[in-house]
Amino acid sequence: MQTSFTLAQLADPDIAEAEKILRACVHCGFCTATCPTYVLDGNELDSPRGRIYLIKDMLEHDRAATAEVTEHIDRCLSCLACMTTCPSGVHYMHLVDHARAYIEQTYRRPLSERLLRAMLAKLMPYPQRFRLALAAALVAKPFAPLAAAVGLKRLAAMLRLSPWRPPSPPLAPQIFPAAGPRKRGRVALLAGCVNDLLAPQINAAAIRTLTRYGIEVVVAEAAGCCGSLVHHMGREGEALAQVRANVEAWTALGGLDAIVITASGCGTTVKDYGYMLRTDKAYAERASRVAGLARDITEYLATLPLAAAASAPGLVVAYHAACSLQHGQRITRQPKELLVRLGFTVKDVPDGHLCCGSAGTYNILQPDIARRLRERKVGTIERLRPDVIAAGNIGCITQFASGTALPAVHTVELIDWATGGPCPPTLRELRPPAATRPSAAAS
Ligand code: SF4
Ligand code: SF4
Repeated sequence: MQTSFTLAQLADPDIAEAEKILRACVHCGFCTATCPTYVLDGNELDSPRGRIYLIKDMLEHDRAATAEVTEHIDRCLSCLACMTTCPSGVHYMHLVDHARAYIEQTYRRPLSERLLRAMLAKLMPYPQRFRLALAAALVAKPFAPLAAAVGLKRLAAMLRLSPWRPPSPPLAPQIFPAAGPRKRGRVALLAGCVNDLLAPQINAAAIRTLTRYGIEVVVAEAAGCCGSLVHHMGREGEALAQVRANVEAWTALGGLDAIVITASGCGTTVKDYGYMLRTDKAYAERASRVAGLARDITEYLATLPLAAAASAPGLVVAYHAACSLQHGQRITRQPKELLVRLGFTVKDVPDGHLCCGSAGTYNILQPDIARRLRERKVGTIERLRPDVIAAGNIGCITQFASGTALPAVHTVELIDWATGGPCPPTLRELRPPAATRPSAAAS
C-alpha cells in the first residue's frame, strides 16, 4: 500500500513503524474472512482492511481521531485472527496498539465512557483494589438483569462476569520448591491480576504441576499486572510503567529458565515487551531478555516428561483455542497434544479461529458484540457434547461461565488433575458425580 508520510512525521519512531506496517498491506482482503466483527455484520469498516485504511488516513493527515474512527477501532477485539490469515505478514497488532494510544491522546470520549474506562484501568490491574470491587459486585450481582432491563448494558455485563463467590486473596511473592531429589529448572510465574483473583485454582494447578516435575517456581516481589489491560485501552503511559516494573522484578531474580504465564492474553503482551520498550534505552535490552524468557504454561510443560497418573480422568474435552494463544503466540499444538498424551479425548471446536468475545475488557466495553460472539461460540461447542471446555485464558473461561452450563476450566487444571493433582474445583462444584469419576470417559 502506498503511503504519504512526510519526513518530519517519519522522525517519530511510532509513525515510522506504522508506515512500515501499512506498506506491507496489499489490500487483498483475505483477512476479512476471519475477522469476527466482519463475519458478524459484513461492514468493511469493521474489518482489518477497513480499519487499516482508517488508521492510515488518520495518521497521514495528523488528524485527531473522530468519533467514527474510534467506534470502529473500539470494535476490534485485538484477537489477531487477521495476522494469522494475512499472506503479507502485516503486523496489525502493533498498528492497532499505536492507533489506540493515538486515539487516547487526540479524542475526548463522552463522560460516561471516560469514567468507565478510568475505573477499569484503576481497579483491574491492582489485585487489592480489584478484590474490593469484586466483593462489591458480589452484593450487586443479583441486580444484573435489572441493570440490563434499564439499558445499563455495561454495568450488567460487569455484574454477569463477576464470580458468585468472594474473591480469593492474591498470590503472595514466594518460592515454591521443586519436589523430588532432582531439580530440573527454575521459573518465575506471573501471578497476574484478574487471573489470580477470579480463578486462583489456575496458578495453583500450574505450581503443583511444575514443582511435581522438579521445577522451582518463584512468584517475584513487585511483579504485577502485565500491562495488557491498559495497553489495549490506549493508556500507554500506565501500560509502560507496569511493563517496566515487571522487567525490573524478573531481571532482579536472575537465573531463570523461563517466565511462565497461565493467562495467554498476558503472555502475548509479555512476549512483546522488547518491542514495547524498544525506544527506552534504559530498559530495551532487559525488556527483550524478559520477552525471550516468556512461555505459556502449556508451551513450557510440553518440554517436561509429563505422564498420566493411574487415576487420570480421561474426559471428552472441547479445546477452545484462545485467540491470544493461537493467533497472538501461535501456540496451537502443545495444549492439545498434552491433553491427548494424558488420556483426554480432545475435540476441536469448529470455526475455532473466531474469538469468543471475551478479549480483555471487551466484553464489558462492547457487550452486544461480545454476547453475539459468545452465543455463536457456545453453540458450536455445545454441539460437540463435551464433558468440559478447556481454554488457556481466564477471559475465555469467564466468558463461557456466563453463557453455558458446561464447565470451563484452564488446560493446566486438567493437566494437573491427570498427573496426580486434585479434580478442578469447577468440575467438583458443577458436575460432582460424572466429571470427578476417574472412569467417566469410558461411559
Ligand atoms: S490480508 Fe493482509 S495484506 Fe491482505 S488486506 Fe488484510 S492485512 Fe492487508
Ligand atoms: S484483531 Fe480481530 S477483530 Fe481486530 S481486525 Fe483483526 S481479526 Fe478483526
